[in-house]
Amino acid sequence: MIEAGKEQRRSAPILSVAGLKKYFPIRKGLFRKTVGNVLALDGVSFSVNEGETLGLVGESGCGKTTTGRTLLHLVKPTEGTVLFRQMPVGEMLRKDPAGVRRKMQIIFQDPYGSLNPRMNVRDIVGEAVRYHGIARGKDADGYVADILEQCGLRPEHRFRYPHEFSGGQRQRIGIARALAVKPEFVVCDEPVSALDVSIQSQVLNLLCDLRERLDLTYLFISHDLSVIRYISDRVAVMYLGKIVELAPKKAFFAAPLHPYAEALLSAIPVPDPVKQRKRIILEGDVPSPVSPPSGCRFHTRCAHVMDRCRHEEPALLDGGSGHFVACFLHHEEGGGTV
Ligand code: SF4
Repeated sequence: MIEAGKEQRRSAPILSVAGLKKYFPIRKGLFRKTVGNVLALDGVSFSVNEGETLGLVGESGCGKTTTGRTLLHLVKPTEGTVLFRQMPVGEMLRKDPAGVRRKMQIIFQDPYGSLNPRMNVRDIVGEAVRYHGIARGKDADGYVADILEQCGLRPEHRFRYPHEFSGGQRQRIGIARALAVKPEFVVCDEPVSALDVSIQSQVLNLLCDLRERLDLTYLFISHDLSVIRYISDRVAVMYLGKIVELAPKKAFFAAPLHPYAEALLSAIPVPDPVKQRKRIILEGDVPSPVSPPSGCRFHTRCAHVMDRCRHEEPALLDGGSGHFVACFLHHEEGGGTV
């Protein structure tokens, strides 16, 4: 019965994003005149279901981190809507900023840079616990000790400072700080990319375990498809400020549809000497987000480019069973949008 309830919740979106844009102005001259824009996000739409992990993958500079931060309104969107449990996040922030910050948390990539070196772990984790009234005084101290233990640290670690820990332990502190305020939705922004490979799997296992135990929903951002494969339920692929493919994990890894996703996947080694995947080498560099190519943004590097790709922009359409792709090769009449 409990499992059935969980499954039902998993099919309901906790977060819905529609037409999200974030342009960063380029200013020049004495009067800092705007001479152009970096189109970091240019019309991103997707939803995250309650209890799932949506993996967001793409090369550096494609807009993954900006997506995570714009969802939480850590950077203000230029256009578009972000709904958390059907409520616009901007409006929620105006009415109850502390409530939104408690429900929607972020785990940063650089565990050292995101921890105040002058505060001990008890204060780093306990500050938000006290601010949000989750526990006070001695109770807060006990609460911090408990959350540290849940994150694989020892209670006595709360008296130490960030420089006294290894990279993996610091990331555990970052996780403890984010989860101490009992969030419902967490953006994990490349949380393991700064760690050694041996430590990465420990932290990934911890995040999986905490998700189940604390009923969390993650948007997991990474440039590494192997990490995305391990932790995600669904996968979204970004290229130059747009989502080009969005699919359940199994379907995506069995047969990616977008030529860019195919190329990314072909770079992952197959752990089977008999089965070998043909490596697809992409030609050219990623174009500048200041003046992205017209039509399909991938057309300058695509081996299957057609004439219409240069002028017409392919929409992100459902090819069936929730496997969305933005590519004319796979579009048939009547495909549904995200
Ligand atoms: Fe390639 Fe055209 Fe598909 Fe873009 S729309 S990925 S250019 S085939």
